[in-house]
Amino acid sequence: MINEKRLVDAFMEYVSISSPTQSEGRFAAYISKILEALGLDVLIDDAGEKVGSDTGNVIAKLKGNAEGDTLLFSCHMDTVSPGVDIKPLIKDGVIYSDGTTVLGGDNKAGIAAIIEALTLIKENNLTHADIEVVFSIFEEGGLHGAKNLNFEQFNAKSVFVLDSGGDPGQIIVKGPAQDKLEFKVIGRPAHAGVAPEEGISAIQVASAAISKMNLLRIDAETTANIGRIEGGSVTNIVAAEAKVFAEARSLDNHKLKAQSDHMVACFEDAAKDFGATVETSVSRMYSAFSIDENAEIVNMAKAACSRIGLKPYTASSGGGSDTNVFNANGLMAINLGIGEKKPHTLEEHLHIKDLVATSSLVLELIKGAVK
Ligand SMILES: [Zn+2]
Repeated sequence: MINEKRLVDAFMEYVSISSPTQSEGRFAAYISKILEALGLDVLIDDAGEKVGSDTGNVIAKLKGNAEGDTLLFSCHMDTVSPGVDIKPLIKDGVIYSDGTTVLGGDNKAGIAAIIEALTLIKENNLTHADIEVVFSIFEEGGLHGAKNLNFEQFNAKSVFVLDSGGDPGQIIVKGPAQDKLEFKVIGRPAHAGVAPEEGISAIQVASAAISKMNLLRIDAETTANIGRIEGGSVTNIVAAEAKVFAEARSLDNHKLKAQSDHMVACFEDAAKDFGATVETSVSRMYSAFSIDENAEIVNMAKAACSRIGLKPYTASSGGGSDTNVFNANGLMAINLGIGEKKPHTLEEHLHIKDLVATSSLVLELIKGAVK
């Protein structure tokens, strides 16, 4: 039923319209026109002004011609760098970039799959309940578009984000929370040769703190990493300042708080031991989510997969996505595998069969929502 040629052509067209993070405007205007032509009511919200993108989130609604559950499908429009002037090519049923950029299948594969399903609905006058669509901005690097959505405007209780790297059939039901941590240690400068005893080495304080810290794999659900250190100037001055940048993640919000508290305590204790001071900042980038394996939304996804011959399986994610934000704002969201392979690399690629399967899955979910 899926028109493979039309779907692949649309995908190739979408990725060749550049939409790097915060410059999604041209693509947003283009996809809005397509949604309107398919009969959806489209609006672009004001999130762009708040987060510094040249457009807002694209929100589209299609009134149902039958009773049933309102479903919301969501993808992000922005792509990571290098993602300008993407030139997709097809080799043996797989779509690649020309090797100088990412492909942008993350996340335009999902967008193409949704558009093909909506096209089929219109073309064949299929029965469907209300459908809502969100194509977000500025997902990469902080989920900023989704965080600035007005969640009151949605009627859907069930949200399907199409933005996971697993094969179609993968259903992400758990995602981690993430904290961003920054530490600024302030010591005291002194001549390193003449009067080192008058100094307090910020680098030494930071080292002492880090040496006591539990890092990397904390437990099955929790990770922590120091990503960057900077500080000091020349070798004959005791370093007056050092900055440390870190992150922590957990599938459990409480475990994350415990890990972040631990990292802060390591710095505070070390600063105290050396007579230095430390400024700490911990910001929650996004919250964890955990959907019950028996929740209706999971059953809907599993049933739809089975009906089209995909083997459904649930999994947890190590990364954040707009799914976290929908769940944190009172909607129930899962993230579906759409076969984005090696995202965020020059080797990113997409199997055409996965693109077709994803579009079939969207269509099947829509059909399944009719009561
Ligand atoms: Zn993505």
